[in-house]
Amino acid sequence: MPELPEVETIKKQLQNKIIGKKIKLVEIKSPRFINLPINDFKKIVEKTTVIGISRRAKILIINLSNNWSLIIHLKLTGQLIYKENQSKIDKHTHLIFHFTDGSQLLYNDLRQFGYLKLIESKKISEFLIEENFGPEPLEKDFTLEKFKKLLVKKSRQKIKPLLMDQTFLAGIGNVYAQEICFYAKILPYRKVSTLSEREIKKIYDGIRRILTSAIAHRGSSVDTYLDIYGLKGEYIPFLKVYGRENQPCLNCKTKIKTISLAGRGTCFCPSCQK
Ligand SMILES: [Zn+2]
Repeated sequence: MPELPEVETIKKQLQNKIIGKKIKLVEIKSPRFINLPINDFKKIVEKTTVIGISRRAKILIINLSNNWSLIIHLKLTGQLIYKENQSKIDKHTHLIFHFTDGSQLLYNDLRQFGYLKLIESKKISEFLIEENFGPEPLEKDFTLEKFKKLLVKKSRQKIKPLLMDQTFLAGIGNVYAQEICFYAKILPYRKVSTLSEREIKKIYDGIRRILTSAIAHRGSSVDTYLDIYGLKGEYIPFLKVYGRENQPCLNCKTKIKTISLAGRGTCFCPSCQK
């Protein structure tokens, strides 16, 4: 599933490419992804201009000039692909936004869990409050002090599933949670109450460094993720434990172990991580 670095990459690229563009028409191949009847959806979106694009957690928000917004969640396999010209589409393309200059934005989704919800812009904050997202880990106001305070309330929880809890922190999923634990040299199943001050600081640093670096490399294409140009993210060579079961630890050569933690496959080094 695309996580914060992947969705942030898509956001930044879309900001460069489609802000100011006017939507000529929307082709909707399948109604399952949208929250309104096809004709209502088209009526609201067509003839509007894209005026803003933002991200909250793993959600993209596209503001339109008529005070409506599109809320897009890619879930497991959603892709947003930008094409300068009319191009061939495949069977996994479910929506096509045609802009007046001839360019297009395609929504592809192999496993079909994603959604594109059209809501009035004034209702976005209400929508986000209902989602109950935790803080954005790369925002300036997400300080070490704030992180410590949040952890105090979660002392009985295991650290790695907690990092993935969207109501605790926004945007971290299974890939980066494993990497953060490795960076901090913490076993992913450690309870929060057992973490020392130094270890908490290391987790905090890991969150900020790893997410920032992953964004700089346009994310990790561990599954179907592609950026808007159809290119894979380039962070995979920097992943230290994710997907490396039975391979030697890059730090100490011990075999990387995998366990299931809160239902998710989790890799770690039994020697580097304590
Ligand atoms: Zn190791």
